[in-house]
Amino acid sequence: MNLIFLGPPGVGKGTQAKLLCNKYGILHLSTGDILRLEISKKTTIGNFAKEFIDKGELVPDDTLLKMMKDRLCLDDAQNGYLLDGFPRTIEQAKGLNLILKKIGHKIDSVISLYANEDELVNRLIKRGLTSGRSDESIEIIKNRQKIYLDQTSPLLSYYHNVGLLIKINGVGEIKYINDEIIKIVNQYA
Ligand code: ADP
Repeated sequence: MNLIFLGPPGVGKGTQAKLLCNKYGILHLSTGDILRLEISKKTTIGNFAKEFIDKGELVPDDTLLKMMKDRLCLDDAQNGYLLDGFPRTIEQAKGLNLILKKIGHKIDSVISLYANEDELVNRLIKRGLTSGRSDESIEIIKNRQKIYLDQTSPLLSYYHNVGLLIKINGVGEIKYINDEIIKIVNQYA
């Protein structure tokens, strides 16, 4: 089963992604985690990505597409995965389509988690106190939210129009939200 998680910063994609991937034994591919690892290893891609991430901006599409194309071709990505944080722009979604076609994969479902803005800002400020992430100060959080609205939220209609989008409320007990997602994706397991 191949899934995409969509949703604004702080909505709980990472938390729900981990629970789901453990349950179904599929690979969790978080582009944020992958990029932060590249930054910590000071690789070419990491050094390049850092300046964008620190400002709360998106890393350019061609960098992400190249990185994810290589990643999706590896052996451990042939038995199911959950994409968390990718695609984040229409351009990336179109590029992903081409990659999937080439390697013979298909997306079963796009799960969109949603929550109101106040809840999201509060969660992110709280997380910023302990996460040590360079992009979790209030101004940068606001910038990430604006970029989500401008560049990522158009993906909701994009995936709705191809019949893949499922919306799930991201406010409530972690376990309850997880059960709601399981009800949807069980049919693809
Ligand atoms: P969150 O979902 O909490 O905003 P992530 O950990 O997914 O954070 O991503 C952190 C940062 O990594 C983003 O603000 C962006 O700079 C970069 N990034 C991650 N995924 C992508 C992507 N698909 N395209 C461009 N930049 C990305």
